[in-house]
Amino acid sequence: MDSAISRLLKVLALEKKQGFRNKAVIGGLDKFVSRWESDARAEVGHTQGINEIVSLLLGYAAVEDIAARERILEQVIRRAQEASQPATATAPASPAPATLTPAPASPTPATLTPAPAVPRPPAPMPPAPAVEETKVEKPREPQPEGWGPALSKPAPPPTENRAPVMPPAPPEPAQALPIPSPGRVTTLPAQEMPSQREPRPIPSEPPAPLGLDAPVTRLPAIGPGYAQKLGKLGVRTVRDLLYLLPQRYDDFSKLRTIDRLQWGEEVTIIATVWRIQSRPIADERKLVTAVVGDGTGEMQMSWFNPFIERQIRTGHAYTFSGKVDSYRGVPTMRNPVFEPLDKNQVSTGRLAPVYPLTEGLTNGWMQRVMNRTLEAWGSEIPDFLPAAVRERLELPPLAQALHQIHFPDSQTNLAAAHRRLSFDEFFVLQLGVLAARQRFRSTAAFPLAAHTNTVAPFLAALPFALTGAQQRALDSILADLRQNQPMSRLLQGDVGSGKTAVAAAALWAAVANSAQGAIMAPTEILAEQHARSFGRMFANLQHPRAGRPVRVVLLTGTMRAGEREEALAALASGEADIAVGTHALIQRGVNFKQLAVAIVDEQHRFGVEQRAALRIKGRQPHMLVMSATPIPRSLALTLYGDLDISVIDEMPAGRTPIKTKWLTSSQRERAYDFIRRQVKEGRQAFIIYPLVEESAASDAKAAVDEHAHLCTTIFPDLRLGLLHGRLRGEEKDAVMQAFSRREIDVLVATSVVEVGIDVPNATVILIEDAERFGLAQLHQFRGRVGRGEHPSYCILISDVTEGDSIKRLQALENSTDGFALAQIDLELRGPGDFFGTRQSGLPPLQAAQLSDLRTLEEARAAAQQLFAADPGLTQPDHRMLAARVAAFWQGAGDIS
Ligand code: ADP
Ligand code: MG
Repeated sequence: MDSAISRLLKVLALEKKQGFRNKAVIGGLDKFVSRWESDARAEVGHTQGINEIVSLLLGYAAVEDIAARERILEQVIRRAQEASQPATATAPASPAPATLTPAPASPTPATLTPAPAVPRPPAPMPPAPAVEETKVEKPREPQPEGWGPALSKPAPPPTENRAPVMPPAPPEPAQALPIPSPGRVTTLPAQEMPSQREPRPIPSEPPAPLGLDAPVTRLPAIGPGYAQKLGKLGVRTVRDLLYLLPQRYDDFSKLRTIDRLQWGEEVTIIATVWRIQSRPIADERKLVTAVVGDGTGEMQMSWFNPFIERQIRTGHAYTFSGKVDSYRGVPTMRNPVFEPLDKNQVSTGRLAPVYPLTEGLTNGWMQRVMNRTLEAWGSEIPDFLPAAVRERLELPPLAQALHQIHFPDSQTNLAAAHRRLSFDEFFVLQLGVLAARQRFRSTAAFPLAAHTNTVAPFLAALPFALTGAQQRALDSILADLRQNQPMSRLLQGDVGSGKTAVAAAALWAAVANSAQGAIMAPTEILAEQHARSFGRMFANLQHPRAGRPVRVVLLTGTMRAGEREEALAALASGEADIAVGTHALIQRGVNFKQLAVAIVDEQHRFGVEQRAALRIKGRQPHMLVMSATPIPRSLALTLYGDLDISVIDEMPAGRTPIKTKWLTSSQRERAYDFIRRQVKEGRQAFIIYPLVEESAASDAKAAVDEHAHLCTTIFPDLRLGLLHGRLRGEEKDAVMQAFSRREIDVLVATSVVEVGIDVPNATVILIEDAERFGLAQLHQFRGRVGRGEHPSYCILISDVTEGDSIKRLQALENSTDGFALAQIDLELRGPGDFFGTRQSGLPPLQAAQLSDLRTLEEARAAAQQLFAADPGLTQPDHRMLAARVAAFWQGAGDIS
């Protein structure tokens, strides 16, 4: 009788004989065991034993180490024997010899025809041409549809040939190299074959090559349906496709069995889920744990994400990637990335790309398309980087880098490819910035008579003397204003460093020249505050020509129509000298008589278009943009390479550093007591609630509820105010004014007070659920206090116990230096997030990470050198580069 168990034991014996190459059955033991499982269950009652056998064998293919395979097989054999008592007495499972010398494959039953050995050669860089791995997939007929000009190999055949048990064609060693063709690509189920889903007519003539700018529909695998899906990922042309970079890689070269795990290592394991448990923990959150096993042992996975429960199932095998940790002596991975085991993906034992996807696209499909596109177009990708630059910096050629970024042969090659593509982006970015600067500088502006004595009356009216740093920044600005080129300057200074006074002096310089100034702020509250404080600063200054006091007008979105009309008329006629406003300032209908100085406060909160829109309110006005988001200088120079930079690196005298304390919610009472004591001493406090959901309504509701609770039960004896985004403009203004006049002791607010608010008597800020805010945001919040002579305090309330949030809160506790925090933030947040593209005005970066200062510096230096030699990029070997710069910046608009 050929029972399931005895069949298994036969296969295992053969596998052993063949030296554990996973060739005893077609498709490998993992495939075999999936088919075998149901037979076995029908025959044998011991399900636990079968579970274990299946689990062990599912991971078998992925384990490359022969010794580990041997151990796994031994265990499987043992379990199989146990499961079959007494049936196995007759099974031919004689103990295999202990030696590992592969015996020649003996003749086997038809169902067990050994697959041909596929050699796994070392993959050199540049990669060998990709060839289909599975013989039955090899094309039988040439396919007329071109994959591009370089098409040398036909597309795959129709898929009917892919019967899983069909004996393979004899090996053709020259074409049998599986690498770099990704394994999971080659064995997609037939219905996933793109060419089947979207059959396309065969053109009578091959299409004329269009280069990399050809639409993706030129690729045989991609018809209109797939093109549309790719479009959602921003992919329209072949070039776009090649630049659709993997989000990450599954590193199957780091595949381990559980018995070989080392603490602290980043690894991938393949294991079956035995048990899933979840239990609630603090804060309405859930801890989900899973016990998984791979035959060499068991370990635990844990997640703080309740949705994991829905994504993972017992009895199924997955790949888990993460860092090895231990919990009470049990090996553990916290928040591992996992994917259902796709056996094909692991059979390559290499770095497998994981792409951004959209509905209807699978990673396997994407890998396949990418692979074949690279195969057909790879050698045609022209390298736009001048050879001299590339050689000097030892960057790999572009075609090679693109191959390696998709299908890396090693971490080293991947790093080199990534460096090359990052360099390209920074380099092109920097060249664009340099060109913009040159263009901008060549336009004429209105030079102002702006000297020390011009601003002297303004400075004399200030209640304080400027710090040295403020004075230096102002001097640079005045020097710019005197030029007949427009000023284009970034004023950086940490929160509370006193940028507003410097901005006001620049505005005054415009007024002193009988021209106008404007300042745009991101929130109504801030615009109103500026309007008030400028009104005060200019109250005693006379307009030089008109002989009247300087007039400041406010423009916001929620003003009454009448007020707005009046303000607009005054700006257009020149009766108003200074406009302070929100986005309302850049709307149509806002006209100036002569706008000479335009300022953007908290500029990181605005998009490029908005800064540009302010600029065109005048004829080449002098522009000053201000930011408290301190970024490393080299980064600033790249992002704002067309701007000059002034830094206020000194705080007004008499400030004591803010003390920051992180408390858990159980210690909240202490915080309330502290606030009460400060109020008794005459100070004021903020209590901040984070955005609960992405909706202003629920956000407001949370603040409203908390405010009610605080009023009735915590601080019934204090005067509390409430501020949130749903209040009308004048309501907000009324609350802020009351707070400024000390009619409110404790201001309960949402993130509307994040930037700019200046109430020097406020000395405590308590931030609830602090982990929900970014580091830069927390630093901004904290900057609401410590603006006066009194010592100030920031209390963070959070119960987080893991993740980057801990690092953020600790960083904040330990440092008040905005630059140091920005550096940490940059490192924690990674690409794109630190500065959203929108804020920076950058075209989207695909490979480059803004935290990669080293590559950025290299690219900046190289760009400057090249620009100095050939600013128009007109030399023959710079032409391709020029086209690239133009394409990169296309649509990015005005970048200052
Ligand atoms: P930020 O740079 O964050 O915009 P502000 O301009 O709002 O900072 O200034 C913060 C506080 O410091 C304000 O109350 C302002 O009046 C005060 N201030 C600014 N410059 C000085 C100075 N040189 N001496 C004393 N206080 C100053
Ligand atoms: Mg400010």
